Amino acid sequence: MMQQPIASHFVDGAYLEDTSGTKIDVIYPGTGAKIATVYSATPAVIDAALNSAARAQKTWAALSGTQRGQVLLRAAELIRADNYALSVLETYDTGKPLQETLVADATSGAEALAYFGGLAASITGEYIPLADGDFVYTSREPIGVCAGIGAWNYPTQIACWKAAPALACGNALVFKPSEMTPLCALKIAEIMMEAGAPAGLFNVIQGLGDVGATLASDSRVDKVSLTGSVPTGRKVYSSAAAHMKHVTMELGGKSPILIFDDADIEAAVGGAILGNFYSSGQVCSNGTRVFVQKGIKDAFLARLKERLKGVVMGDPLDEAVNFGPMVSERQAEIVEGYIARGMAGGATLFAGGSRNGFTIAPTVFTDVTDDMVIAKEEIFGPVMAVLDFETEEEGLRRANATEFGLSAAVFTRDLARGHRVAAALEAGTCWINTYNLAPVEAPFGGVKASGVGRENSKEAIHHYTQVKSVYVAAGGVDAPY
Ligand code: NDP
Repeated sequence: MMQQPIASHFVDGAYLEDTSGTKIDVIYPGTGAKIATVYSATPAVIDAALNSAARAQKTWAALSGTQRGQVLLRAAELIRADNYALSVLETYDTGKPLQETLVADATSGAEALAYFGGLAASITGEYIPLADGDFVYTSREPIGVCAGIGAWNYPTQIACWKAAPALACGNALVFKPSEMTPLCALKIAEIMMEAGAPAGLFNVIQGLGDVGATLASDSRVDKVSLTGSVPTGRKVYSSAAAHMKHVTMELGGKSPILIFDDADIEAAVGGAILGNFYSSGQVCSNGTRVFVQKGIKDAFLARLKERLKGVVMGDPLDEAVNFGPMVSERQAEIVEGYIARGMAGGATLFAGGSRNGFTIAPTVFTDVTDDMVIAKEEIFGPVMAVLDFETEEEGLRRANATEFGLSAAVFTRDLARGHRVAAALEAGTCWINTYNLAPVEAPFGGVKASGVGRENSKEAIHHYTQVKSVYVAAGGVDAPY
């Protein structure tokens, strides 16, 4: 049961402890039991991490792209080989069912490392011909030392989604996991070393928000990549701005799913289930505002109720369990609070609503209106709000009436409408007839308050490099005097 790591931090190629930092108890959400203790990074640990990252970055950037890529590809293989143990650890860290973590977490991290490992040798500049034989060439240079700050819902995946493009481009990374889920990233750091990364290239330091804030404002950090909530994003973005640091902000959402009368009902119900209840609803891109056209609403709800009978709750380590607890008691309380506000606000509780330990049953509200709190705020728990609409224009207008813009989906059998609606939805990622698939090949990120920049895909290269232009003159210099 105990999952005590060798030490709290992984810095300069080795585990590092400093028990004078604030003590952080690590709780297994499946039982509420304490499974480890780590200590928040002290200024000395932060210094060691940033200084070793700066050293390692120079060595690493001097390698060829192919050489860097080989290390990432090896790390991907090591993660795949260790998938079972890493998945069990992910379940201890987050409480997500093993049934999910076996296929979604370490595997997704390995895919990111393999993808960017393959891409590393192709990160090149341009040749730009000019008049009279002059020309410009550009190079994509690393930014330097990057800080990654993670949320608690996907600790392995977030560490890898940030490390893979950052390292492929020749940067070093200092990663701070959420204080709720400190264990997984340490294993990724071990694996990076085993794969051949120089000591200090990928450091992990623990801490609460204040350690993240220190990283965001330290002048030795050249870029900050945050996965977190919009309020934290605003703070980190503004302190990064003071130093003109680069940023990637992957923030929250309240994404809409538009289900039209002509939709394949099984696909629509499946999409709504995936987009609300996977990882017990703790997914940034979740489609928590489900707009169902009036003609299909009764059939949709009937089928949803039927399929919710397939939910299996229990110990997340039991592979038969397909629905786990919230990450923490506090998060369970927050979600419970939203359920109470949903009922007080006049919505109808159609399914769920109960709590057992840290687990909140999959909850569906109907008769939800746009002005209700449960239709406006990100809950980050298994709470689906079902709203209805009549026309495409109305559905789109209401779907877009939010400060967020992470994701959106449309379910329809009408090909033209699918593309038209996807084009009009204000979101960084849109799905047609599916939900929440985020392959590494596709850019991922938000518009509006949901973020800045993109993770994954070739697009991420732009966010982990800076471009240098070199002007080469073929003739003499034509000065006026
Ligand atoms: P938070 O925003 O609370 O925390 C995110 C990270 O930032 C944590 O590591 C946290 O540390 C740290 N942090 C907190 N305050 C500061 C600060 N002032 N300066 C620097 N760092 C700080 O998010 P949660 O962990 O609660 O995660 C849930 C949120 O993440 C949701 O809003 C969700 O939508 C979003 N998210 C977005 C994703 C995306 O890709 N767009 C993916 C996954 C989640 P600590 O935890 O130790 O306080």
